[in-house]
Amino acid sequence: MPILDVKHIEKIYEGKVAHKALTNINFSIEKGEFVGIMGPSGSGKTTLLNLIATIDRPTAGDIFISGKNPHTLNRKETALFRRHELGFVFQNFNLLDTLTVEENIVLPLTLDGENVREMERRLYEVTEKLGIAQILKKRTYEISGGQMQRTAIARAIIHRPSLILADEPTGNLDSKASKDVMETLTTINKEDGATALMVTHDAVAASYCHRVIFIKDGKLYNEIYRGDNRQAFFQKIIDMLALLGGDSRDLSTVRL
Ligand code: ADP
Ligand code: MG
Repeated sequence: MPILDVKHIEKIYEGKVAHKALTNINFSIEKGEFVGIMGPSGSGKTTLLNLIATIDRPTAGDIFISGKNPHTLNRKETALFRRHELGFVFQNFNLLDTLTVEENIVLPLTLDGENVREMERRLYEVTEKLGIAQILKKRTYEISGGQMQRTAIARAIIHRPSLILADEPTGNLDSKASKDVMETLTTINKEDGATALMVTHDAVAASYCHRVIFIKDGKLYNEIYRGDNRQAFFQKIIDMLALLGGDSRDLSTVRL
C-alpha cells in the first residue's frame, strides 16, 4: 500500500470566474520515497500540496494517506489526522520566536500529551541526528537560517509522521544552508525511511529527490528519476525546466 495515493484529483476555485487549478492528477508515493514537485508559477503546486495537507478540499477525486482518506473526516478528526500522520516544513520556518528551540520541537508531542520521559528520549534522538543538540536552549532569533530550518524539520519528524510535506524548504536559505537542509532531509529519508514530498523551485534541492514530478497548467507533465548520479539528475531537471518554460528564476539558481 502506498503512503500517498492521489487519484483523479480536480480542483476548481469558484469565484466570479471559476478557475480550474488542477486537472486529473494521479500519482502515488511509496514508503521511503523522497519526491519533488516542480512547475512554473501558477501551475498548481501549492494547490496540490494544500489538498494533500488537508488544508483545502479537492473538487473531485480522492487522496489516501496510509490508506485513509482524510477528506471524509470531520473537523476534529482532520486536525488529529494532520497532527499524527503529517509533518510540515515551510519556507519561512513557522517557528514561534517566544519559545526556545527545544520548546518548538516538542510542541506537537505536548499537544498529544506524550509523557515527559518519552518526549526527552525522542528530542535527544532527533536533535543529535540533525546536529542541533547544542542549541536547544536558544531562542529562534539567536540561531541561523539553516539551524531554524533544521529545528523545523525536527519538529516535523518528532512524532514520526507517515508523510513529510515541505513547501520550498530552501526558499529562504543561502546555498550553504540549503545544502545543509537537503542533506538533513536526505539523512532522515535514508536512516529512518521517512517519506517526503517537497515542492521546490530550486533545481539543486530537487536533485536530492529520488524522483521529480513536473506539473504545468494544473496537469501532470512529466516525471524523472534520479538514479545514482545527482549531478546528471540536476542537469536533467534543468533541461526539463527549460522545456516547461515559465519562471526564468528556475534556471538562474545554478549552484551545486
Ligand atoms: P503554484 O504554487 O504552482 O504557483 P498555485 O497552486 O498557487 O500555483 O495556483 C494555481 C492556480 O490557481 C493559479 O492560477 C492561481 O492564480 C489559482 N489560485 C490559487 N489559489 C487560489 C484561490 N484561493 N482562489 C482562486 N484562484 C486561486
Ligand atoms: Mg506556490
